[in-house]
Amino acid sequence: MNLGVFDGGKLGLVDDAHVVDLTTLVGSGGVTDMLALVHRWDTLRPRLESADLAGLPRTPLAEAHLEAPLPRPGKILAAPVNYPCHQREMNVDLTVAELGIFLKANSSVIGPGETIELPYVDRRVDQEAELAVVIGRLARNVEPEAAMDHVFGYACLLDVTVRGGEDRSIRKSYDTFTPIGPWITTADAVPDPGALLLRCWINDELRQEVSTKDLIVGIPELVAFASSVMTLHPGDVIATGTPAGVGPLSDGDHIVVEIEQLGRLEVDVSAAGAVSWLDVQARLDVSDAAVRPAGGASA
Ligand code: MN
Repeated sequence: MNLGVFDGGKLGLVDDAHVVDLTTLVGSGGVTDMLALVHRWDTLRPRLESADLAGLPRTPLAEAHLEAPLPRPGKILAAPVNYPCHQREMNVDLTVAELGIFLKANSSVIGPGETIELPYVDRRVDQEAELAVVIGRLARNVEPEAAMDHVFGYACLLDVTVRGGEDRSIRKSYDTFTPIGPWITTADAVPDPGALLLRCWINDELRQEVSTKDLIVGIPELVAFASSVMTLHPGDVIATGTPAGVGPLSDGDHIVVEIEQLGRLEVDVSAAGAVSWLDVQARLDVSDAAVRPAGGASA
Protein backbone atom coordinates (compact mmCIF):
# COMPACT_ATOMS: atom_id res chain seq x y z
CA MET A 1 0.00 0.00 0.00
CA ASN A 2 1.27 3.49 -0.86
CA LEU A 3 0.01 6.00 1.71
CA GLY A 4 0.41 9.69 1.06
CA VAL A 5 -0.81 13.14 1.99
CA PHE A 6 -2.36 15.33 -0.67
CA ASP A 7 -4.39 18.45 -1.45
CA GLY A 8 -4.05 20.24 1.87
CA GLY A 9 -3.38 17.46 4.36
CA LYS A 10 -5.77 14.72 3.22
CA LEU A 11 -4.66 11.14 3.78
CA GLY A 12 -4.65 9.16 0.57
CA LEU A 13 -4.08 5.69 -0.80
CA VAL A 14 -2.05 5.97 -4.00
CA ASP A 15 -2.43 3.45 -6.81
CA ASP A 16 -1.02 3.58 -10.34
CA ALA A 17 -3.42 6.23 -11.53
CA HIS A 18 -5.31 7.72 -8.58
CA VAL A 19 -5.17 8.97 -5.04
CA VAL A 20 -8.09 7.56 -3.06
CA ASP A 21 -9.24 9.95 -0.34
CA LEU A 22 -9.16 8.12 3.00
CA THR A 23 -10.49 11.05 5.01
CA THR A 24 -13.91 9.57 5.77
CA LEU A 25 -12.63 6.02 6.23
CA VAL A 26 -9.98 6.79 8.86
CA GLY A 27 -11.26 10.18 10.02
CA SER A 28 -14.22 8.60 11.82
CA GLY A 29 -11.68 7.05 14.17
CA GLY A 30 -10.09 10.43 14.82
CA VAL A 31 -7.14 9.79 12.52
CA THR A 32 -6.47 12.94 10.55
CA ASP A 33 -2.73 12.77 9.87
CA MET A 34 -0.07 10.22 8.98
CA LEU A 35 1.48 10.14 12.43
CA ALA A 36 -1.86 9.15 13.94
CA LEU A 37 -2.40 6.62 11.17
CA VAL A 38 0.97 4.99 11.88
CA HIS A 39 0.14 4.84 15.60
CA ARG A 40 -3.21 3.18 14.85
CA TRP A 41 -2.04 1.04 11.94
CA ASP A 42 -2.71 -2.32 13.60
CA THR A 43 -6.43 -1.52 13.77
CA LEU A 44 -6.65 0.58 10.60
CA ARG A 45 -4.88 -1.86 8.31
CA PRO A 46 -7.65 -4.51 8.36
CA ARG A 47 -10.24 -1.77 7.90
CA LEU A 48 -8.42 -0.47 4.83
CA GLU A 49 -7.90 -3.93 3.41
CA SER A 50 -11.57 -4.85 3.71
CA ALA A 51 -12.99 -1.47 2.72
CA ASP A 52 -14.84 -0.92 -0.52
CA LEU A 53 -12.42 1.66 -1.87
CA ALA A 54 -14.45 2.01 -5.06
CA GLY A 55 -17.00 4.04 -3.09
CA LEU A 56 -14.48 6.62 -1.92
CA PRO A 57 -13.67 9.89 -3.70
CA ARG A 58 -10.55 9.75 -5.83
CA THR A 59 -8.34 12.19 -7.69
CA PRO A 60 -6.28 11.35 -10.78
CA LEU A 61 -2.67 11.05 -9.61
CA ALA A 62 -1.55 13.62 -12.18
CA GLU A 63 -3.94 16.19 -10.71
CA ALA A 64 -3.29 15.48 -7.02
CA HIS A 65 -0.89 17.73 -5.17
CA LEU A 66 1.21 15.34 -3.11
CA GLU A 67 2.71 16.71 0.10
CA ALA A 68 5.25 15.39 2.61
CA PRO A 69 3.76 12.06 3.70
CA LEU A 70 5.11 12.54 7.23
CA PRO A 71 5.59 16.28 7.61
CA ARG A 72 6.80 16.15 11.21
CA PRO A 73 8.29 12.78 12.19
CA GLY A 74 8.89 12.18 15.89
CA LYS A 75 12.60 12.09 15.29
CA ILE A 76 14.87 11.49 12.33
CA LEU A 77 17.89 9.24 12.82
CA ALA A 78 20.47 8.81 10.10
CA ALA A 79 23.40 6.54 9.34
CA PRO A 80 26.67 8.10 8.17
CA VAL A 81 28.96 6.16 5.80
CA ASN A 82 26.83 3.06 5.25
CA TYR A 83 27.88 2.09 1.70
CA PRO A 84 31.47 1.04 0.82
CA CYS A 85 31.38 3.11 -2.39
CA HIS A 86 30.53 6.28 -0.38
CA GLN A 87 33.21 5.44 2.18
CA ARG A 88 35.77 5.31 -0.66
CA GLU A 89 34.64 8.59 -2.23
CA MET A 90 34.80 10.36 1.14
CA ASN A 91 38.19 8.76 1.80
CA VAL A 92 37.33 7.96 5.41
CA ASP A 93 38.36 4.99 7.54
CA LEU A 94 35.26 4.84 9.70
CA THR A 95 31.81 3.57 8.85
CA VAL A 96 28.46 3.63 10.60
CA ALA A 97 29.76 0.72 12.68
CA GLU A 98 32.23 3.08 14.39
CA LEU A 99 30.49 6.44 13.91
CA GLY A 100 27.09 5.38 15.19
CA ILE A 101 23.97 7.27 14.18
CA PHE A 102 23.08 10.96 14.34
CA LEU A 103 19.92 13.06 14.62
CA LYS A 104 18.44 15.41 12.03
CA ALA A 105 15.90 18.02 13.11
CA ASN A 106 12.34 16.93 12.32
CA SER A 107 11.63 20.50 11.20
CA SER A 108 13.82 19.91 8.13
CA VAL A 109 11.20 17.80 6.31
CA ILE A 110 9.68 18.85 3.00
CA GLY A 111 7.63 16.91 0.48
CA PRO A 112 7.54 16.21 -3.25
CA GLY A 113 7.55 19.28 -5.48
CA GLU A 114 8.94 21.48 -2.73
CA THR A 115 12.24 23.35 -2.81
CA ILE A 116 15.50 22.80 -0.96
CA GLU A 117 16.74 26.21 0.15
CA LEU A 118 20.52 26.60 0.02
CA PRO A 119 21.48 28.54 3.16
CA TYR A 120 24.82 30.00 2.06
CA VAL A 121 26.41 31.43 -1.05
CA ASP A 122 29.87 30.30 0.11
CA ARG A 123 29.36 26.76 1.48
CA ARG A 124 29.00 23.53 -0.46
CA VAL A 125 25.68 21.67 -0.02
CA ASP A 126 25.36 18.10 -1.30
CA GLN A 127 22.50 15.78 -2.11
CA GLU A 128 22.49 12.37 -0.40
CA ALA A 129 19.81 10.05 -1.75
CA GLU A 130 18.77 7.44 0.81
CA LEU A 131 16.23 4.78 1.65
CA ALA A 132 14.13 5.88 4.63
CA VAL A 133 12.66 3.44 7.13
CA VAL A 134 9.51 4.54 8.96
CA ILE A 135 9.04 2.96 12.38
CA GLY A 136 5.59 1.49 13.06
CA ARG A 137 5.78 -0.01 16.53
CA LEU A 138 7.55 1.00 19.73
CA ALA A 139 11.04 -0.51 19.70
CA ARG A 140 13.46 -0.68 22.59
CA ASN A 141 16.42 -3.07 22.55
CA VAL A 142 14.96 -5.21 19.78
CA GLU A 143 17.06 -7.96 18.22
CA PRO A 144 17.77 -7.78 14.49
CA GLU A 145 15.60 -10.88 14.03
CA ALA A 146 12.60 -8.99 15.43
CA ALA A 147 13.44 -5.52 14.10
CA MET A 148 11.42 -5.71 10.91
CA ASP A 149 8.22 -6.28 12.91
CA HIS A 150 8.69 -2.68 14.07
CA VAL A 151 8.86 -1.18 10.58
CA PHE A 152 5.78 0.56 9.16
CA GLY A 153 7.15 1.26 5.72
CA TYR A 154 9.70 2.87 3.43
CA ALA A 155 10.18 6.01 1.36
CA CYS A 156 12.72 7.90 -0.71
CA LEU A 157 14.64 10.49 1.30
CA LEU A 158 17.27 13.14 0.68
CA ASP A 159 19.72 13.80 3.50
CA VAL A 160 20.83 17.24 2.31
CA THR A 161 24.14 18.22 3.85
CA VAL A 162 26.33 21.29 4.25
CA ARG A 163 29.94 20.07 3.89
CA GLY A 164 32.28 21.21 6.63
CA GLY A 165 33.48 20.63 10.12
CA GLU A 166 30.41 21.27 12.26
CA ASP A 167 28.50 18.46 13.90
CA ARG A 168 26.43 16.42 11.44
CA SER A 169 23.26 17.23 13.37
CA ILE A 170 23.76 20.90 12.47
CA ARG A 171 24.94 20.50 8.90
CA LYS A 172 21.99 18.28 7.99
CA SER A 173 19.21 20.00 9.94
CA TYR A 174 18.60 23.22 8.00
CA ASP A 175 14.98 23.81 7.05
CA THR A 176 14.11 21.94 3.83
CA PHE A 177 17.09 19.55 4.19
CA THR A 178 15.04 16.35 4.49
CA PRO A 179 12.76 15.81 1.50
CA ILE A 180 10.69 12.62 2.02
CA GLY A 181 8.23 10.93 -0.32
CA PRO A 182 6.46 10.86 -2.64
CA TRP A 183 4.51 8.59 -0.23
CA ILE A 184 5.20 5.84 2.31
CA THR A 185 5.06 2.31 0.97
CA THR A 186 3.95 -0.08 3.70
CA ALA A 187 6.35 -2.84 4.68
CA ASP A 188 4.08 -5.66 3.46
CA ALA A 189 4.49 -4.32 -0.10
CA VAL A 190 8.29 -4.45 0.08
CA PRO A 191 9.29 -8.08 0.55
CA ASP A 192 13.03 -7.34 0.53
CA PRO A 193 14.03 -3.74 1.36
CA GLY A 194 17.62 -4.99 1.39
CA ALA A 195 17.65 -5.46 -2.39
CA LEU A 196 16.22 -2.30 -3.93
CA LEU A 197 17.73 -0.27 -6.75
CA LEU A 198 18.22 3.36 -5.64
CA ARG A 199 19.03 6.09 -8.15
CA CYS A 200 19.38 9.86 -8.04
CA TRP A 201 19.49 12.31 -10.92
CA ILE A 202 20.38 15.99 -10.89
CA ASN A 203 18.97 17.74 -13.95
CA ASP A 204 18.62 14.37 -15.72
CA GLU A 205 22.25 13.43 -15.04
CA LEU A 206 22.49 10.16 -13.10
CA ARG A 207 24.59 10.91 -10.03
CA GLN A 208 23.89 7.99 -7.68
CA GLU A 209 23.05 4.35 -8.35
CA VAL A 210 23.25 1.47 -5.89
CA SER A 211 21.43 -1.55 -4.60
CA THR A 212 20.47 -1.46 -0.92
CA LYS A 213 22.09 -4.89 -0.69
CA ASP A 214 25.38 -2.96 -0.52
CA LEU A 215 24.45 -1.38 2.82
CA ILE A 216 27.29 -1.98 5.32
CA VAL A 217 24.88 -2.20 8.26
CA GLY A 218 21.63 -3.62 6.92
CA ILE A 219 18.15 -2.44 7.86
CA PRO A 220 17.39 -4.99 10.62
CA GLU A 221 20.74 -4.39 12.29
CA LEU A 222 20.37 -0.61 11.94
CA VAL A 223 16.89 -0.61 13.52
CA ALA A 224 18.12 -2.92 16.28
CA PHE A 225 21.16 -0.75 16.98
CA ALA A 226 19.12 2.47 16.98
CA SER A 227 16.68 0.85 19.43
CA SER A 228 19.58 -0.01 21.74
CA VAL A 229 20.39 3.70 21.99
CA MET A 230 16.92 5.23 22.24
CA THR A 231 13.33 4.08 22.16
CA LEU A 232 11.95 4.21 18.64
CA HIS A 233 8.38 5.44 18.40
CA PRO A 234 5.81 4.99 15.65
CA GLY A 235 6.48 7.65 13.04
CA ASP A 236 10.19 7.95 13.72
CA VAL A 237 12.32 7.86 10.57
CA ILE A 238 15.72 6.27 9.99
CA ALA A 239 17.74 7.41 6.94
CA THR A 240 19.90 4.43 6.06
CA GLY A 241 22.84 6.16 4.36
CA THR A 242 23.87 7.29 0.89
CA PRO A 243 25.96 5.64 -1.83
CA ALA A 244 28.75 7.21 -3.88
CA GLY A 245 27.93 10.16 -6.09
CA VAL A 246 27.17 12.88 -3.58
CA GLY A 247 27.82 16.24 -5.16
CA PRO A 248 27.18 19.96 -4.89
CA LEU A 249 23.75 21.47 -5.47
CA SER A 250 23.18 24.73 -7.30
CA ASP A 251 20.38 27.23 -7.68
CA GLY A 252 17.80 25.90 -10.12
CA ASP A 253 18.74 22.22 -9.84
CA HIS A 254 16.02 19.60 -10.15
CA ILE A 255 16.56 16.41 -8.13
CA VAL A 256 14.92 13.05 -8.73
CA VAL A 257 15.30 10.15 -6.30
CA GLU A 258 13.85 6.86 -7.43
CA ILE A 259 13.83 3.68 -5.39
CA GLU A 260 12.46 0.49 -6.84
CA GLN A 261 8.95 -0.24 -5.49
CA LEU A 262 8.84 3.12 -3.65
CA GLY A 263 8.30 5.65 -6.44
CA ARG A 264 10.01 8.87 -7.47
CA LEU A 265 10.64 11.85 -5.22
CA GLU A 266 11.27 15.12 -7.09
CA VAL A 267 12.34 18.42 -5.54
CA ASP A 268 13.93 21.66 -6.68
CA VAL A 269 16.83 23.71 -5.36
CA SER A 270 16.94 27.45 -4.77
CA ALA A 271 19.64 29.84 -3.58
CA ALA A 272 17.22 32.75 -3.42
CA GLY A 273 17.61 33.19 0.35
CA ALA A 274 21.30 32.29 0.59
CA VAL A 275 23.51 34.49 2.75
CA SER A 276 27.25 34.72 3.37
CA TRP A 277 28.62 32.17 5.83
CA LEU A 278 31.47 34.53 6.57
CA ASP A 279 28.93 37.11 7.72
CA VAL A 280 27.21 34.52 9.93
CA GLN A 281 30.54 33.58 11.47
CA ALA A 282 31.44 37.20 12.04
CA ARG A 283 28.23 37.67 14.02
CA LEU A 284 29.24 34.75 16.28
CA ASP A 285 32.16 36.96 17.31
CA VAL A 286 34.30 34.02 18.45
CA SER A 287 37.68 35.70 18.05
CA ASP A 288 37.36 37.39 21.44
CA ALA A 289 36.21 34.27 23.27
CA ALA A 290 39.00 32.18 21.80
CA VAL A 291 41.70 34.23 23.50
CA ARG A 292 39.93 34.48 26.85
CA PRO A 293 42.12 32.91 29.55
CA ALA A 294 40.88 29.60 30.90
CA GLY A 295 38.56 30.13 33.84
CA GLY A 296 38.39 33.83 33.16
CA ALA A 297 34.94 33.85 31.66
CA SER A 298 31.73 32.94 33.36
CA ALA A 299 29.66 30.28 31.66
MN1 MN B 1 23.33 10.73 4.78
